[in-house]
Amino acid sequence: MLLSSLFPLLLTLLTLALAATQQDFYKILQLEKSCNDRDLKRAYRTLSKKYHPDKSSGDEQKFLEVAEAYETLSDPTTRKIYDQYGHDGLANHKRTGGQQQHNPFDLFSQFFGGGGRQQQGVRRGHDMEVKLSVPLRDFYTGREVPFSLEKQQICDTCSGSGSADGHVETCSRCNGRGIVIQKHMLAPGMFQQIQSHCDVCGGQGKTIKRPCKTCNGSKVVRKPIDLVADIEPGMPRGHRVIFENEADEHPDYVAGNLNVVIDELQPKIETGDSDEARKHRNDGAFFRRKGPDLYWKEVLSLREAWMGGWTRNLTHLDGHIVPLSRQRSEVVQPGHIEAVQGEGMPIWHDGHVHEHDEHHASHGKLYVEYVVVLPDQMEAGMEKDFWALWEKWRKKIGVDLLKDSGRPEVAAQHAKDEL
Ligand SMILES: [Zn+2]
Ligand SMILES: [Zn+2]
Repeated sequence: MLLSSLFPLLLTLLTLALAATQQDFYKILQLEKSCNDRDLKRAYRTLSKKYHPDKSSGDEQKFLEVAEAYETLSDPTTRKIYDQYGHDGLANHKRTGGQQQHNPFDLFSQFFGGGGRQQQGVRRGHDMEVKLSVPLRDFYTGREVPFSLEKQQICDTCSGSGSADGHVETCSRCNGRGIVIQKHMLAPGMFQQIQSHCDVCGGQGKTIKRPCKTCNGSKVVRKPIDLVADIEPGMPRGHRVIFENEADEHPDYVAGNLNVVIDELQPKIETGDSDEARKHRNDGAFFRRKGPDLYWKEVLSLREAWMGGWTRNLTHLDGHIVPLSRQRSEVVQPGHIEAVQGEGMPIWHDGHVHEHDEHHASHGKLYVEYVVVLPDQMEAGMEKDFWALWEKWRKKIGVDLLKDSGRPEVAAQHAKDEL
């Protein structure tokens, strides 16, 4: 009785376990179920390059999984089926001839050109370089910075064939060779052969009767692409982040690399009232960076510099507080520079943040320079009081500042100068 009621349950569990062996397409692409077309493209670009079997980080199994996941989710029909009925639904759909599987390497070449696999003699496009400016706090905390860039891309409409109906014919004039040979008679019986580009197909060897409307038969279009630059904590100013095969694309060659130079945005003080402006209206705009160290100017009043007994709470680039203070009677000389250990930039080494250990600091230093501001306006009564006080103590215990300076003595008028 008990056993017979358990059996269907066991069967259900077994079926579930089998179904779970095929991984979720969204998980393969590291995306949420709510992702849009752009997210899909971005994920495919990143992961297919990472797992491409020609790369050192390659993994053919994963490369094929990424291609299958992308192909299914980028088509609205199959995505809907997958979302509702999962892998089983897709299998049914395929059986009834609904989805044609493409060669994963063709899919790859639609994104990056060059036929998917690196072959000997395949041309490579130019490398490109762009500048991306980010504020100092991004260098401190590290951030994934999305940016957009306009570049030449393989036409989606015709998948890079240039043809509206997919038909590409061999040029009848040059028989697909792209060149024609013309004979000129120089003298009776004497010929000169001139080899030139075929003007019918423009040297391509192929002609298209009905050019694609999107790209006008040129196989490529210029349009923006969304990328994300990973700024690592402590990365140096001017560092180049390399996006492999992300330069201008063309079906006839493998795209070159896109080099993104990470520059530091000139600091500015946010004055707006938006949330963004408020968030950034901290002390961040006033830090200056030199290598692994940060520089900061702190202003003290005459009383503070002289008498001590003050506290400052510095808001650091990531919002944490660095307290600065002096006890009562601790003097700070104008121009004094205090080095605060561990409050500089994170130390960055060749593509990874340096692990903290006993021999290496994890951060540089923060140099605080003290600027003392003397009051230039005083109430008359206050001025009188101070003057009297100075006179009283100067006469009692005044010292000669010139005495130890090593300079020749001029006159006796500065005999007792200061306290
Ligand atoms: Zn031709
Ligand atoms: Zn096209």
